[in-house]
Amino acid sequence: MAYDQNNIFAKILRGEIPCEKVFENEHVLAFNDIARKAPVHILIIPKGSYVSFADFSEKASADEIVALNRAIGEIAKEKDIVESGYRVISNHAAHAHQEVPHYHVHLLGGADLGGCFK
Ligand code: IMP
Repeated sequence: MAYDQNNIFAKILRGEIPCEKVFENEHVLAFNDIARKAPVHILIIPKGSYVSFADFSEKASADEIVALNRAIGEIAKEKDIVESGYRVISNHAAHAHQEVPHYHVHLLGGADLGGCFK
């Protein structure tokens, strides 16, 4: 699947639409999900143009992959949800109901999330 430069997260990265930013560095941006499913629901995205996990894991540099995964851990610490627990999810393509075609990781926590994924 070709990357769509007009997807909503590409627009957020270009500053064309606003977001509630919680973290940013050279490779990564993180912001609150607009329709949160838990007290903490943050989307962590690479600044590079990757459609989904499949694309990112194949094409991203080691620096980008490390930066994204470290960011998840840092944000979880910052939000004080490490001891209580959290969930990390990424939806790839149709069967997972991926809505936005720019790779992103959902970080969910701040309450008991139950035993299922959604
Ligand atoms: P997906 O199903 O993993 O692709 O989830 C996309 C997520 O993006 C959903 O949880 C949406 O609520 C979220 N979302 C869509 N548009 C925006 C936005 O403009 N800002 C923040 N989150 C958004």
